[in-house]
Amino acid sequence: MLTIKNLHAGIEEKDILKGINLQVNPGEIHAIMGPNGSGKSTLSSVIAGKEEYEVTDGDIIFEGGSINELAPEERAHNGIFLSFQYPVEIPGVTVTNFIKTAINETRKARGLEDMPANEMLKLIREKSELLEIDRKFLSRSLNEGFSGGEKKRNEIFQMAMLEPKLAILDETDSGLDIDALRIVSNGVNKLRSKDNAVVVITHYQRLLEYIVPDFVHVLLDGKIVKSGGKELALELEEKGYDWLKQELSV
Ligand code: ADP
Ligand code: MG
Ligand code: MG
Repeated sequence: MLTIKNLHAGIEEKDILKGINLQVNPGEIHAIMGPNGSGKSTLSSVIAGKEEYEVTDGDIIFEGGSINELAPEERAHNGIFLSFQYPVEIPGVTVTNFIKTAINETRKARGLEDMPANEMLKLIREKSELLEIDRKFLSRSLNEGFSGGEKKRNEIFQMAMLEPKLAILDETDSGLDIDALRIVSNGVNKLRSKDNAVVVITHYQRLLEYIVPDFVHVLLDGKIVKSGGKELALELEEKGYDWLKQELSV
């Protein structure tokens, strides 16, 4: 599904990603861990196509074609979802109306008509029930006064509705209280299928007790320095990143 080859990227004069290789197949959950400043968020932004980053070498291949030249919207329409892609507050636009627009824009990009209202309603009902989201939440203004947990709920709801092939969840250190943690992990586990893949980016091992990854990769200074199974996350939790730095410099 996703193949990243020798990816180098950065911002202005600064190199941040220094040769990333990664292969993600349908049905897999990958975790990317690493200390603060190692390039985790940059990697997710570059996959999603954020224009502030410049790709200086390598390739990102999604479903058989290079997406290097595609705009973020085009990547989203192709089925790549990045959490916190829409973190803006939009007073007067409800959670539901926002997602309706997003779905119809995606359909339009694929040459389809708007989703019929009854079908949309059915989808909203189905997904909100699955994720245990109540009606009141759906009619709130987007992100306005949302708590950390509510922001996560909105994000996971967007993901459920858009049914991406590849979801990238960049779980920054802040905002992951126990409530938010459960919302994210329940959502991911319920939405998981053999046809989609998830890349979870996290600083902490704790999230991976709830979302059990098939593969764990450690990012240090813009490079994946170690990959393994879920036990690698435990090892990191126990020994810390300094252990790995020392091991690698020997
Ligand atoms: P992580 O998510 O692992 O904490 P980031 O990808 O956010 O790491 O950052 C990696 C490095 O790149 C850091 O040194 C950070 O300061 C720098 N960086 C990332 N984005 C920008 C930006 N927009 N402008 C300047 N420096 C940036
Ligand atoms: Mg950071
Ligand atoms: Mg980050």
